[in-house]
Amino acid sequence: MRAAGKIVAEVLAAVSNMVKPGVSTLELDKEAEKIIRARKATPCFLGYNGFSGTICASVNDEVVHGIPQKGRILKSGDIISIDTGAKFDGFCADAAVTVGAGKVSAAAQRLMDLTKKSLELGLARVRPGARLGDVSNAVETFAMLNNLGIVREYCGHGIGRNLHEEPCIPNYGARGTGPVLKSGYALAVEPMLNAGKDGVATQSDGWTVVTRDGSLSAHFEHTVAVTENGCEILTIL
Ligand code: MG
Repeated sequence: MRAAGKIVAEVLAAVSNMVKPGVSTLELDKEAEKIIRARKATPCFLGYNGFSGTICASVNDEVVHGIPQKGRILKSGDIISIDTGAKFDGFCADAAVTVGAGKVSAAAQRLMDLTKKSLELGLARVRPGARLGDVSNAVETFAMLNNLGIVREYCGHGIGRNLHEEPCIPNYGARGTGPVLKSGYALAVEPMLNAGKDGVATQSDGWTVVTRDGSLSAHFEHTVAVTENGCEILTIL
């Protein structure tokens, strides 16, 4: 999973670097696929329930599951969440980042910074003996403190030989509840926060999830392992 995680991290670093006004989300997707295949890994998202991309490319008010498209050209001020997964030697890793194209508004930057911070705070709770609700609650508490909307319809997940495994990891919950974390568990923690209110809808393409109020949304994710005394981020270079 470390090896798979490193490939995912490499993809996100490379593709994030390509984000600028004038680039299409399909170009980002093709680069991601090229890197994954060059590392003798397999894209986890491509073909998943019929999804056509190696990445999910979700722009502005799109929350998750945006479909890469040739005609979707980034403009200055757009923010884009890039989510991808790779399988290497039988094991999966999954991660996401949100980055801006050109010059973004202070509000967009704030949303990205705080969503990234909420992931860090959630991961700080990951250790043997902690409860899954401790992780969820750390994300929720920080989001509420900063008046951000929480996406409640989608959650993080266990991960291993399969991309999505038990348990579901919501971005809200009560401390001291849920499964007890044990050394050796692998989790994908992925806060999705909105500049506006909670609440999402799925567009007519059957995939793209957008905020109901049209506000910006950001998404950060890491695959991590529960270690003997804490947490190791696997989707890192
Ligand atoms: Mg995930």
